[in-house]
Amino acid sequence: MSKSDNARRLAKQIRRQTLLTRSTSLRLARQVHTFSGSDIPDAADRSQRQFEARVAHCLADAFQDRQLNGALLGVTEAHSTDRGLTIHLEPEMSREVLRAVLPRMDEEYGGLRGVPALRISWGGQHVALYDTLSPAHIKLSHGERAFDTLLPNAHNGEHLLWRSNPRKATKDERNEWLEWDTWFLSQGQRETRDLLFSRILRRPTLVNRAAAPHGLANCYTHHPGDLVIEWCCGDTTETLCAVLLAHNFVDGLPPEKSVELFPSLASVQFGDSTVILRRHNTCVLPNEMMGSRKLSELIREDYTS
Ligand SMILES: [Zn+2]
Repeated sequence: MSKSDNARRLAKQIRRQTLLTRSTSLRLARQVHTFSGSDIPDAADRSQRQFEARVAHCLADAFQDRQLNGALLGVTEAHSTDRGLTIHLEPEMSREVLRAVLPRMDEEYGGLRGVPALRISWGGQHVALYDTLSPAHIKLSHGERAFDTLLPNAHNGEHLLWRSNPRKATKDERNEWLEWDTWFLSQGQRETRDLLFSRILRRPTLVNRAAAPHGLANCYTHHPGDLVIEWCCGDTTETLCAVLLAHNFVDGLPPEKSVELFPSLASVQFGDSTVILRRHNTCVLPNEMMGSRKLSELIREDYTS
């Protein structure tokens, strides 16, 4: 199939799934180099989607602009099936990923951090994060290092819940979990959030494009209902949006809520402000003194401190 046939086919799909005009859909479609039409499976059930969503949200919150080697959430690859998900951790970030998601009470912070009710199991080559409140789990691939050397220790004022209660969620964790599910969103908005955040975790090679030029990007959250990805050089927001649309990112969402473009702000919103892409007009790392390499050194120091 020729390149223009591909673009037309993708433009048609974008038209079907969004309220974008024919010309905008075609403009977006032309920014995608390959469109095979193949899709990335979603998590099979709500609890799995919710678990993956919480992990993605927690990692965005934890890393912000502290990534190494262009791994936005500390993940370089994902193998998704409808029955499960395996993620490959960026080797230099893997300890920080575990530190971020394994739940702990933090006196200084004044509450629980990490993904409540999440625990970890390992034996031989198999390592998994799992939810103690449902059958949901995520397998981890972590490279060559002995896995237990990656497990984080408690910092001052921290109590590691996953270590003191290795198989069961505490009451605080159950309450925190409930908050995620009852936060000020309608049932439909919560389902959209869980679906889109889970899809973010299942598409690391796409979302990592935002972090490619400098080895990092900024990801953050305002509340349990959104996830923002912000960057400067490389892809425009339209290009990254088009790439996500080509990989069934908004499948199943109502067209009026699937995607909205804000060209004057260089911003794109998916799912009614659930996932937000934003690009600075100018480079935030304009000089070599604070260039990518220097920043990576500072981030490494920060990880080990
Ligand atoms: Zn830049």
